Amino acid sequence: MRMLKTAAAGAVVLALAATATACGGSSGTAGDKPAGGDVYSGTYKVATNVKVDSTVLKKAQKAKKIVIGVKADQPFLGFKDPATGKYSGFDIEIAKMVAADLGFSEKQIEFKTIDSNVRETTISKGDVDYYVGTYTINDERKKQVGFAGPYYTAGADLLVRKDDKAITGPETLKGKKVCSIAGSTPLQEIKKPKYGAQTTELSKYSDCVKYLLDGQVDAVTTDDAILKGYAAQRPEKLRVVEKPFTKEPYGVGMNKDDKALRDAITKALENHIKNNDYKKAYEGTLGKSGSKYVAPETPLPTY
Ligand code: GLU
Repeated sequence: MRMLKTAAAGAVVLALAATATACGGSSGTAGDKPAGGDVYSGTYKVATNVKVDSTVLKKAQKAKKIVIGVKADQPFLGFKDPATGKYSGFDIEIAKMVAADLGFSEKQIEFKTIDSNVRETTISKGDVDYYVGTYTINDERKKQVGFAGPYYTAGADLLVRKDDKAITGPETLKGKKVCSIAGSTPLQEIKKPKYGAQTTELSKYSDCVKYLLDGQVDAVTTDDAILKGYAAQRPEKLRVVEKPFTKEPYGVGMNKDDKALRDAITKALENHIKNNDYKKAYEGTLGKSGSKYVAPETPLPTY
């Protein structure tokens, strides 16, 4: 019953994960294909003459490109096709809608893959102009970054092997090995002593899924929206328990001090929720992995 808690132990696990990735792993490549047929890609009307008093935006306008942090291994949400290098998914569509209202076409977007554990530092340093990647809005993070949203609300859930009947909810995790990723809210939750789980911390969810398929862990925990994408890739092997045990409101993350950018992004989200772009994108992406559509409430709050 050893908890992989210390930095040294965590480093070992990360190194093992890197080896597994490099060698291909025995169970193949979790997160290697989008699953569910065609990849949805919407086009959004690009606003002209955008005048927003935002430092971040002015820099992007000068460079004639906008840099957006996203995920690359979450099917239906933020997924990079290894063959084409093209990103797809619901978060990618949200990123594109916002970019259009800020005056940037799809061609002017540079997507950067940023893992959960480095989101706050990457945003604060200005390495991305904004971030769209299953990013839960919470008070702790609000101390470091600004948020617009929520544009979707997920909940932490469990992904298990299909033949596992023992895990039926978070209360059945005593002594079980549970994988999640560093810097994520579901990991913080599952580490609470009340669950009695042994945690393995990696930096990518797709590596947790490999561990689950290989039998090195008993469950993976993160948002249901993410887990449903993995289950849809391998319905014969994996299932989601479907007992969400937290609330994860997703926001677009950005520089904490750039209020003008925050307001502009909030407005952009509201516009695309109202004109139905949001719903179409949802149905073409996340909706395909079985996450139910819930219209976000507008007007969105200001933080
Ligand atoms: N929404 C959760 C979070 O922001 C989990 C998903 C993720 O790591 O991106 O921590």
